[in-house]
Amino acid sequence: MVAQNPLPITSPLQGGLSKVEQDIARTCKEARRDRASVMLIAVSKTFGADAIVPVIEAGQRVFGENRVQEARAKWPRLMSAYPGVALHLIGPLQSNKAKEAVALFDAVHSVDRPSICEALAKEIDSQKRRPQLFVQLNTGEEPQKAGVAPAEADAFIASCREKYGLPISGLMCIPPVNDAPAPHFALTAKIAARNGLTNLSMGMSADFAIAIQFGATHIRVGSAIFGAR
Ligand SMILES: *Cc1c(COP(=O)(O)O)cnc(C)c1O
Repeated sequence: MVAQNPLPITSPLQGGLSKVEQDIARTCKEARRDRASVMLIAVSKTFGADAIVPVIEAGQRVFGENRVQEARAKWPRLMSAYPGVALHLIGPLQSNKAKEAVALFDAVHSVDRPSICEALAKEIDSQKRRPQLFVQLNTGEEPQKAGVAPAEADAFIASCREKYGLPISGLMCIPPVNDAPAPHFALTAKIAARNGLTNLSMGMSADFAIAIQFGATHIRVGSAIFGAR
């Protein structure tokens, strides 16, 4: 175990986490949802162990990274010090990184094309590890953004299941920065429902409360916990 001393109450990191926790609890109450139905993923990309350890020590157990390489450099040591910690890949995955991704991550939120399905299916089979899988939607149909177009989502989810044997557990979306997020969350929830998917990875620092109102089960919160990047 690393730091044994309790953090001073003025720690900005712990302050960020406890403020986020309060906001989640209040929003769940308003939305008549159980707090336990929303998983907080603390997005630690760009931050080092010195920033992450206090957040683990404050009780947070699920973390998100957007690059396989960066996660591999930071997390194996942290995970052996804190065996109960889970790691989610929230950023794009290249098929040549699927092996490392399946070895390191407990969930992948960015399944969005056949080559990734194929690589993941192969690694899941050979490593006997089953990360939870989310299909990423490009709800804003932004050309520069990863994800499946809404019109192609049903067919893609079906092919994940039937062609690749991948158990998809939910959908993920990242609304366009300049759009109101609510319609994107509503669309994601609708596509999930008609495909029998119960998990919704949506909501970041600026909009997680709205996402919870629209049924988010996994919120990905970085800067509100760790500070500006
Ligand atoms: C960085 C990132 C987040 C967290 O963003 P914040 O605005 O810092 O909360 C969430 N999801 C994805 C996919 C990200 O890359």
